[in-house]
Amino acid sequence: MSSFNVKSLDDLPNDTLNQKRVIVRVDFNVPIHNGVVTNDLRIRESLPTINRLLEMNSKVILISHLGRPKGKRSPEYSLKPVLDSLKKLLPNVTIHFVETIEELKEKSYQINPKEIILLENIRFYEGEEKNDPELSKKLAECGDIYVNDAFGSAHRAHSSTEGIANYLKPAVAGYLLKKEIEYLSKAISNPEHPYIAIIGGTKISGKIDVIQNLLSKVDKLLIGGAMMFTFYKAQGINVGKSLIEEDKIELAKSLLDQAKEKILLPVDCVVSDTFDFKNLKVGSLQVVEIHNIPENGIGLDIGPKTLELYSKELENAKTVVWNGPMGVFEIQDTAKGTLEIAKQLAKITKKGATTIVGGGDSASAIEGANLQKEISHVSTGGGASLEFLEGKILPGISILDKK
Ligand code: AMP
Repeated sequence: MSSFNVKSLDDLPNDTLNQKRVIVRVDFNVPIHNGVVTNDLRIRESLPTINRLLEMNSKVILISHLGRPKGKRSPEYSLKPVLDSLKKLLPNVTIHFVETIEELKEKSYQINPKEIILLENIRFYEGEEKNDPELSKKLAECGDIYVNDAFGSAHRAHSSTEGIANYLKPAVAGYLLKKEIEYLSKAISNPEHPYIAIIGGTKISGKIDVIQNLLSKVDKLLIGGAMMFTFYKAQGINVGKSLIEEDKIELAKSLLDQAKEKILLPVDCVVSDTFDFKNLKVGSLQVVEIHNIPENGIGLDIGPKTLELYSKELENAKTVVWNGPMGVFEIQDTAKGTLEIAKQLAKITKKGATTIVGGGDSASAIEGANLQKEISHVSTGGGASLEFLEGKILPGISILDKK
């Protein structure tokens, strides 16, 4: 059964939602500093689903996790700052906050339609990450309908993302989850060609499955980030003191043997003589050809010739998937490769290409450059989007009702 075949809110008959208690699993795992949400993107992304339910006269129950409190109540991981953000985004809606599931159940009967209840961090319950059936049942009793809109957590089988749907039907996808599934499944099953994947970051190991799955589908795979040095080392090229994964050299070699004509590697890079990631400091930088990396050189970004080469490849692409930065983008001096690739994606999106950015670092880079609106789809899930692109069926999606 394909996971793209699941029902969404729009597949429910019209009167189904009227006056019903609708549990929505959202992903409000947002950055918080000194009790204030510093980036409310994930909260805003959940508004289409919430607003639709309010419009349909539902009682909306929001459940999310925040961070990793490991089954214990701790104020540091409270969702109260999220409540403040939510109130600002929905100034005309009554929003209640409850600490426990018992309280939630009681209140779920008491509130009026068009009101919201936000439950405190679900990971304060030990059973959540264990997908404990008892907890799932207790949660299911708090609602009449289940909506999963937490794409970022869909690759985890937890009580509120998967377990609950065994006990509560209908169980359907919200609009954010639907949007994620539509874009990502288009990329893996029916992409328009030329189809290019860009993979960067440090670890081949974490991305090997996605690379392998994409290699059979894409026309070109562009490599960037530190993983390029493992690929070069695999060809016997000196990479100086650049970061490599010693135990992945053989793997890189076999990938190149499999698909040498498809894999494009950088032709030049930016090297430094020192690198202190903790303090975000680099030494003196120079651009060198790949074959001229000095003995003490640490490669930290792709160079201008590579950018030219990659930009040209991307120019005519019709579908692009990007995951992982081209260099150490957290430092301005070595962020250029990542930033320029982001700009090139924005440019081809304008010309009609479908561009999809997997969550995590590449999504932060897009946001940092304020280009979110100029990319077809920036995924809200890092791990989840990778697993989806690997071709895995995500438990939070496969448990939902089928069309
Ligand atoms: P990953 O978690 O595998 O996607 O890697 C993301 C991290 O890779 C980011 O924190 C980048 O700073 C880092 N990174 C990218 N290129 C390099 C490089 N050439 N050397 C060291 N770290 C890098």
